[in-house]
Amino acid sequence: AIDPRAELRRIFGFDAFRPGQEEAVRAALEGRDALVVMPTGAGKSLCYQLPGLVRDDLTLVVSPLVSLMQDQVEGLRRVAGDAVGLVNSQQSLARNREVLARARSGQLKLLYVAPERFGSRGFLDAIDGVRVGLFVVDEAHCVSQWGHDFRPDYFRLGDAARYLRARAIMALTATATRRVADDVAERLALAEPVRVTTGFDRPNLSFAVVPCRSRQDKHRRIATVLHDLESRPAIVYAGTRAGCEELAKQLGRALELDVAVYHAGLDRERRAAVQRAFMNGDTPIVVATNAFGMGVDKADARTVLHETVPQSVEQYYQEAGRAGRDGAPARCLLFSEARDKGLHTFFIERAAIEDAAFRVVARRLAREANEQGRYDVELGLLADLAHCDREQARAIVGHLARAGVVQPAPSPPDRASGRVVGEWDR
Ligand code: ADP
Ligand code: MG
Repeated sequence: AIDPRAELRRIFGFDAFRPGQEEAVRAALEGRDALVVMPTGAGKSLCYQLPGLVRDDLTLVVSPLVSLMQDQVEGLRRVAGDAVGLVNSQQSLARNREVLARARSGQLKLLYVAPERFGSRGFLDAIDGVRVGLFVVDEAHCVSQWGHDFRPDYFRLGDAARYLRARAIMALTATATRRVADDVAERLALAEPVRVTTGFDRPNLSFAVVPCRSRQDKHRRIATVLHDLESRPAIVYAGTRAGCEELAKQLGRALELDVAVYHAGLDRERRAAVQRAFMNGDTPIVVATNAFGMGVDKADARTVLHETVPQSVEQYYQEAGRAGRDGAPARCLLFSEARDKGLHTFFIERAAIEDAAFRVVARRLAREANEQGRYDVELGLLADLAHCDREQARAIVGHLARAGVVQPAPSPPDRASGRVVGEWDR
């Protein structure tokens, strides 16, 4: 029989498992489905890497970000050499073919695959016939619409695992809510999964809410915190793209340094450059929307500041949790003025009634605001999107205004225009 602890020492050179790892490893060695919920940094990768390297069949690992996969594969090559491969769209066709040929001839133990591959007939054919042991879904909250990072490509993974006749599925996530965990288990059709959950306490983080009188007051207080060198490196989360740009400019002026901006409206190269500069310490402060997320794995961020209240406690936990990964003391500060709550209370109260219509209108306005810092939309268009008539669309905008979500400006009868106060970057 395989001794997991001996393998841990032999392959990785670690003396002991961290909480939850051994249970997950044993499940995978026995070929049982497993759902592993552990906070970021707890060591989820090892839960499938160890059994994957020990088992005599192929382990497929699906992960949403190419950069994350590349980092993992590079790290693993140091301990496992050529037994690890990677297939994705950023690699040449010839290279992908070569990797798949090595998988077919049994030379690979672990193959990392981007989720969209499972929509490709060519890939499924190339891998068909290979004995697949573990089918690993990392960042598994992406299959859930309740999660904060839903990816359509994740939807077909359960079917793909069955099509490939994988022995067992292991799903891993740092998302702690029961609803997301249950949804993941259901969507991947996990069969009597072994559930491994560890604690989510982060004892080195301290949390505070800073009540503010106005937006200017908020920005002043944020600048004061960031003025202190001990609060850096820092991430500042803001609600909209335009809000990010504005805040970064103000902070840059107040602190007399370059403050970087990161949001989904910037092109891929720009975003990669900002992330790199933050990771290697060239940029001490990044102002970002929630697009600055997965894959941001900086160990020594000392402060995470929120300029607006995130959509959910879960999202706050994920974002604030990017502070203090190194275990040293770090602070999480939430700057809030009374009206910030409006958007969320609004959605919660409206959740039961007219849900779809309200959301569609609000999202549309938010998108406009993200692109331009303001919105200017045709009521007819909103009505079409929300399946209501023009008058109802106008009423919805009115509701949003009363809830403090938008600040309307006087507009011609067929339009609605103004500024959006807070939304998310998706
Ligand atoms: P997660 O995916 O849960 O965020 P990772 O798998 O990336 O975390 O692991 C975080 C770090 O912990 C890695 O540097 C990894 O090498 C280290 N690690 C994992 N398991 C152990 C262990 N048993 N002993 C020591 N270090 C470990
Ligand atoms: Mg991970």
